[in-house]
Amino acid sequence: MTHDQPVLIAGGGIAGLCTALGLLRAGVPVRVLEQAAVLREVGAAVSLAPNATRALDSLGVGAALRAASNWPQRAAMKHYKTGADMVAYDMGKPMEGRWGSPYLQLLRADLHNVLTDELHRWDPAALKLGARVAGISQDSNGVTVETAAGTFRGSCLVGADGVRSAVRAALYGDGAPDFTGYVAWRGVVPVESLRNPDFTPDTAVFLGPQRTLLRYRVRDQSAVNVVAFARVDSWTEEGWSLPADPAELRAAFAGWHEEAEDMIEGLCSSGAFKWGLFGRAALPRWQQGRVSLIGDAAHPQLPFLGQGAAMAIEDGVLMARALARGPDVEAALACYERLRYPRATHVVQRADAHGLRIHQHLVTASADDPVPRDDFAEFDFDAATVSLDVQERS
Ligand SMILES: Cc1cc2nc3c(=O)[nH]c(=O)nc-3n(C[C@H](O)[C@H](O)[C@H](O)COP(=O)(O)OP(=O)(O)OC[C@H]3O[C@@H](n4cnc5c(N)ncnc54)[C@H](O)[C@@H]3O)c2cc1C
Repeated sequence: MTHDQPVLIAGGGIAGLCTALGLLRAGVPVRVLEQAAVLREVGAAVSLAPNATRALDSLGVGAALRAASNWPQRAAMKHYKTGADMVAYDMGKPMEGRWGSPYLQLLRADLHNVLTDELHRWDPAALKLGARVAGISQDSNGVTVETAAGTFRGSCLVGADGVRSAVRAALYGDGAPDFTGYVAWRGVVPVESLRNPDFTPDTAVFLGPQRTLLRYRVRDQSAVNVVAFARVDSWTEEGWSLPADPAELRAAFAGWHEEAEDMIEGLCSSGAFKWGLFGRAALPRWQQGRVSLIGDAAHPQLPFLGQGAAMAIEDGVLMARALARGPDVEAALACYERLRYPRATHVVQRADAHGLRIHQHLVTASADDPVPRDDFAEFDFDAATVSLDVQERS
């Protein structure tokens, strides 16, 4: 049996676009309702681990993704004062050989372009811009969604509208997200603007007390994505993102190794933004009837494992696979939740724990006090082939 109504998706971010692509490839009509009038993702990059690139390959965007990405060759955790490598490991071919898919890094804008170009190829009318979701109702035949661009009717609604999800608010009313105790300054710095453009390896995290600084190359190595994190007591700013104050940023990383300070100067001169990192307590479930949640709307996580976008991509692939099995959308949403809830919850907890470990580490860099490194346990998962026939949610 086929779907006689479209699947509605709130949010044209990574999770929403991946869900839409998976459904269109399976012959299921979709409408992606995105609040922005123009799709614009600027000023930051994203790391895609092998579980993410494997899932994206299954959506048919592998070649375009590889063409837009930097392929990191080696990563290190560095001491914040000496700049010495405390732990280093190969990425590139060894990682691709072990997991069968590459680890890639690219600008978020480029990832969005790859996904929207492919979406337009399948259905130029699938994406509705300027369609901020404002109201939801469901009955025994479908879902009605009120947006700034009109009313839409579909078989079900996938809430892919991020950490400030309107769909989540309508289903569960669990209020605004909570400040996690971390701030991040993020920016993309032209390599030519750095004092030392020949830094190695291409990917590194500097670890200091209550602070970390991540940097990796993007855009044919001509730019570097820099993210500086700090643990703080509270977020008192208006809103959750604002232009960085160079004096505050320099003071937060004063006395760090000259390479880290070079990156901080790059952030200051390239118009970086300061972000409060917000999260939410886990919901006991995501689905209500014909409506469910995916990506950051369902399970926002801290960025310290680099798996938030990967979870959104895996979610999209599995949501599409579950819905493509047939027109019983409530059964499909239940199937998706059984599959995803345990994995997403586990990864959220690991990202929390990893964040605490790297920010609380004493930075002694001795052999008997090893720097905690992620064990890459997430990379094995294959959203495109994992069995959908899970009976119970563990
Ligand atoms: C500092 C930082 C660094 C990160 N680095 C990485 C990384 O390296 N690797 C990684 O895997 N993850 C990373 N992440 C996490 C990753 O960015 C998120 O987990 C991911 O973007 C979630 O995708 P999403 O589609 O669920 O939500 P979003 O990307 O937030 O997309 C939600 C979409 O919904 C739209 N929307 C919102 N409200 C409405 C509404 N009412 N109606 C219609 N549309 C609406 C928004 O405009 C947006 O387009 C990082 C996060 C941070 C904060």
